[in-house]
Amino acid sequence: MKMVEDKFNYMDLLDRLYEKLPERRVTPPPDIPPLEIVHVGAQTKIRNFKNVCDVILRDPRICARYLLKELAARGTIDESGVFTIYSRVSMHTLNQLFKRFLDTYVKCSTCGSYQTELRRQGKVWIIRCLACGAETPVKPI
Ligand SMILES: [Zn+2]
Repeated sequence: MKMVEDKFNYMDLLDRLYEKLPERRVTPPPDIPPLEIVHVGAQTKIRNFKNVCDVILRDPRICARYLLKELAARGTIDESGVFTIYSRVSMHTLNQLFKRFLDTYVKCSTCGSYQTELRRQGKVWIIRCLACGAETPVKPI
């Protein structure tokens, strides 16, 4: 009789499971990295802001404008891609707002994919899905 090998344990099984996930997944929200939020004095910084915006194929300035508008705050994006908000905003609030941005301005309302692009034609903004091709008009920010 063959012995069960040591390495064939629970962690290995988990690893194998995770390895298979990307192929099976239809929509990739887990690929969007979590916001790295830090508080510096009375300011709030999102350190990986540009990086996250690159992943969701959005202009950081558009996403920043949305967040600032919702927060009624002022802020700026520096050349290294760090987004600084000139007020103290809780992680919970920021994450919730960012999720709302994703739901409204990134996620395809037809198939649920996050692989979409935003087209601006004057005052008309359209989300076009790269997965299914659906086009959804959205409110300009
Ligand atoms: Zn779609």
